[in-house]
Amino acid sequence: KPIVTLVGRPNVGKSTLFNRITRSRNALVDNFPGVTRDRIYGQAVWNGVEFTLVDTGGFAEDDQDFFAGPIRAQIRQAVQDADVVILIMDGKGGVSPFDRDLMTVLRSSEKPVLYAVNKIDGEEQEERLYEFYSLGIDVPFPISAEHGYGVSDLLDELVSVIPPSRPEPAEEMIKIAVVGRPNAGKSSLINRMLGEERLVVSELPGTTRDAVDSIFKVNDKSYCLIDTAGIRRKGKVTRKLEKFSIIKSLRSLDRCDIALIVIDAADGITDQDVSIAGYAHERGCGCILLLNKWDLVEKDKHTAKAYYDRLRLAAKFLSFAPAMTISALTGQRVSRIFSRVDAVYAQYTTRITTGQLNKVLGEALIRNEPPLHQGKRLKFYYAAQVSTRPPTFVCFVNYPDAVHFSYERYLINQIREGTGLTQTPIRLLLRQRTG
Ligand code: GDP
Repeated sequence: KPIVTLVGRPNVGKSTLFNRITRSRNALVDNFPGVTRDRIYGQAVWNGVEFTLVDTGGFAEDDQDFFAGPIRAQIRQAVQDADVVILIMDGKGGVSPFDRDLMTVLRSSEKPVLYAVNKIDGEEQEERLYEFYSLGIDVPFPISAEHGYGVSDLLDELVSVIPPSRPEPAEEMIKIAVVGRPNAGKSSLINRMLGEERLVVSELPGTTRDAVDSIFKVNDKSYCLIDTAGIRRKGKVTRKLEKFSIIKSLRSLDRCDIALIVIDAADGITDQDVSIAGYAHERGCGCILLLNKWDLVEKDKHTAKAYYDRLRLAAKFLSFAPAMTISALTGQRVSRIFSRVDAVYAQYTTRITTGQLNKVLGEALIRNEPPLHQGKRLKFYYAAQVSTRPPTFVCFVNYPDAVHFSYERYLINQIREGTGLTQTPIRLLLRQRTG
């Protein structure tokens, strides 16, 4: 079913609109009794067109947090998962910087977007719309989520822009970014991966003007290397035109599923490597750590392990990411990268059923009871996976702010172990439910 996602800053009326649209069918996807307020996914049908409505409301609890990196990333992800996005703005409050910020995210996504201006209760209030044209919107829809004004016009338009049936790509293409500090060997690795023996299907223009992605096949599976403009060796004599800048590396992280983090092992693991790994982690990519130039490292049977240990210590936050030693120069183990990529990607895109998730959560809660915190008895109600890439879980708690960081980490680890998501980043969002 097509996915329609509601975005907007806190308190613009997302959940009111969500309830209004999904109530029209009285069917709830989630079977948790008595919690309609906390629903994130709901089913709706309009003019015979069925769709799933997603409320991203829980991502930003208050205005202050809104610009924070992780929330932006979650919204971007939610947008990426959507077929159509509805941006809801506040007709009473007027245009806010948040709206502009969201517009940037939406425009870069190239998804169909409808713009709804809420809290307009009737025709006589439609002048509140005018300032929203300053955002460069062609057709803002005046609505009142609370009273229903304009909602049917919005839905008429919505079902007309929903793609008839979600076009499933004939085969899934894994998007890979190669990142690392200058001279770590990124270009060499890319050239290896796109080596002579492989068929490069095409170079596709990416989202930014100068970005070029390379699509290629290995064992009949398609992969896409992000941002390879000028990197690919066209002939034996042509030298690469453009080197990777850090900025370019970071930009490619926004579009990838899996980041290959290339580290110059001959040089040791540096702070810069760790901070690049940090960026990849923050963006929520699946990560594989590649200790490159292994041919240069003087080694005995303990060397690789010593490197892995050092890496784990320096980048604890990526302890779940597979690491391997390679040589882009000699090609050693480069071809094995693909099976690692496949394995991480499979986890990265996994959906865990609500039943399994709550079983794991329930057991974890029994094994290690949530401690009293700030005098509050913590109660965890249930959890649901709300998105993939990476797997993101929302857990409803009575006092989310009182959950200690270490207990949160405990739960994350339990979810990892219980669901087999051992090599992908996962996210756990705690949401308030009073109850
Ligand atoms: P980039 O800046 O990350 O794209 O790095 P390059 O691919 O341009 O590599 C920087 C230098 O390291 C070049 O001189 C490469 O030939 C060399 N290099 C890259 N990978 C390896 C490797 O695995 N072993 C050795 N010995 N040299 C490498």
